[in-house]
Amino acid sequence: MDITAFLDRFFAIAPWVLFAAIVLSVYFASRGSRGGVRVPIAQTFSCTQCGHRGKREHMVPISREGSIVWYCPRCAARL
Ligand SMILES: [Zn+2]
Repeated sequence: MDITAFLDRFFAIAPWVLFAAIVLSVYFASRGSRGGVRVPIAQTFSCTQCGHRGKREHMVPISREGSIVWYCPRCAARL
């Protein structure tokens, strides 16, 4: 194969390859950041009463004077 013919073919498809790479990287970047915002797996709350720290699913939210405070199940049972 002629080298100039190869270069012609390469530069004919190079912009499309570049475009596809940019689209893919933007897609994965936006998906990654959205996932980072959405995943509060490591988020913990400390109990207002005893200071026990637990995951959100294990804590009990209680509305008090217009704001949400978090209690551990043990303290919530004693309220
Ligand atoms: Zn507690």
